[in-house]
Amino acid sequence: MSSYDYDLFVIGGGSGGVRGARVAASLGKKVAIAEEYRYGGTCVIRGCVPKKLFVYASQFHEHFEDAAGFGWTVGDSSFDWKKLVAAKDAEIARLEGLYKKGLAGANAEILETRAELVDAHTVRLVKTGQTVTAKTIMIATGGRPNPHAALPGHEFCISSNEAFHLEELPKSIVIAGGGYIAVEFANIFHGLGVETTLIYRGAEILSRFDEDLRRGLHEAMVAKGIRILCHDTLQKVSKGEGGLVLEALNSGTLQADVVMLALGRDPNTEGLGLDAAGVAVDERGAIIVDDYSRTNVENIYALGDVTNRVQLTPVAIHEAMCFIETEYKNNPTRPDYELIPTAVFSQPEIGTVGLSEEEAGKRYGELEVYRAQFRPLKATLSGRAERMIMKLIVDAASRKVVGAHILGHDAGEMAQLLGVTLKAGCTKDDFDQTMALHPTAAEELVTMYAPTYRVRDGQRI
Ligand code: NDP
Repeated sequence: MSSYDYDLFVIGGGSGGVRGARVAASLGKKVAIAEEYRYGGTCVIRGCVPKKLFVYASQFHEHFEDAAGFGWTVGDSSFDWKKLVAAKDAEIARLEGLYKKGLAGANAEILETRAELVDAHTVRLVKTGQTVTAKTIMIATGGRPNPHAALPGHEFCISSNEAFHLEELPKSIVIAGGGYIAVEFANIFHGLGVETTLIYRGAEILSRFDEDLRRGLHEAMVAKGIRILCHDTLQKVSKGEGGLVLEALNSGTLQADVVMLALGRDPNTEGLGLDAAGVAVDERGAIIVDDYSRTNVENIYALGDVTNRVQLTPVAIHEAMCFIETEYKNNPTRPDYELIPTAVFSQPEIGTVGLSEEEAGKRYGELEVYRAQFRPLKATLSGRAERMIMKLIVDAASRKVVGAHILGHDAGEMAQLLGVTLKAGCTKDDFDQTMALHPTAAEELVTMYAPTYRVRDGQRI
């Protein structure tokens, strides 16, 4: 009989924490999980899921316009922001219920309180002040938007958290940042009819993606009417008579109803009692873990965004499953970060897996690059001026496909399946031997027979 109250205590009810708690409990372990806000965490409550619902909402005006080319006459349409927010909230509440039901069904104890470490085996439940002990502790407290406190007037700005609950849809918005969140929300707000400006410090948005897609998406967004200011940063935000007044380094004075900062996310470790338990963090406050998600304290693990490895929901879930193997199945398992498929739910969408041309050029002596840019079939009748880009990066020596990049409709769906092929180590010959599925956009991926160009020692030849 263990001398602890629990075998496992999980702090944080997001994707990683809930998975770890639920599976450990289903293995017969005595488990408690504590969450201070809402079960489901960032992904379900104010991240991936509500964002995707907003993306769908923002696409309808283009669907209505496109319909005309197919013979439809669509009557007057209007959009009700409050209705969308309410419908989204109802769906999120349903999902939150499912998360709790899964935990309860596995016999995990669900605690609705903030929890802080007292020492390596003791946790204080802030709501009641009660302390409990656990043999193993898992920290999965996630992250929060970087408030950019150095910016004068940052307190007048919102983050993605508030964007999900704005009282009114603004007439205009300025979004600072050039990453996933900034780009996705710029497209959402623009699609809902908001005058949208994106302001980004670098030369081109989405710095970690393939250059072709970055440029392609930038052009498509500008063509839709989104203003993108690169090489620029916000210097100051203040309240003016008709809204917010912004000073930008290069673009001068701007005005907007709402300013949203999407400048990365910080790990949620403040006040967590990490010092008391002796858990080490890095200079950004992220918990330092080894290859198995174990902290420097033997019985304390950390996973998901709080460790600032790869800030993606499926990665946190994968880390939780590896924790279960390591801790409870006597099968030490390291999370595998190779070839993670990812999507940016912009409009058009980006779907990608593996290395960008630039990264691959540094790693391999010679590359074959297969690239297609074309007008999708639907656009021929809708009249929409849009182009899809598809790109395969192939290591010339081994013929292995080391990167696949798509810009266009359903790029995320395609990237998920391309992830299987790259993970399986498929070569370009495997792609060539695969029968095309006609008429689809994806068939282009198996019909690009000759390289568009080659890259040797990082240089295009
Ligand atoms: P990102 O890391 O994607 O982007 C942060 C952006 O802020 C970058 O453009 C960065 O510029 C810029 N930036 C950072 N600091 C400053 C600064 N001091 N001044 C000016 N600009 C700055 O973070 P997000 O906040 O967009 O998203 C957080 C994480 O959430 C992502 O990393 C992603 O993993 C995850 N996410 C995933 C989604 C998906 O899978 N579809 C959707 C949304 C979020 P630079 O590039 O020059 O460094």
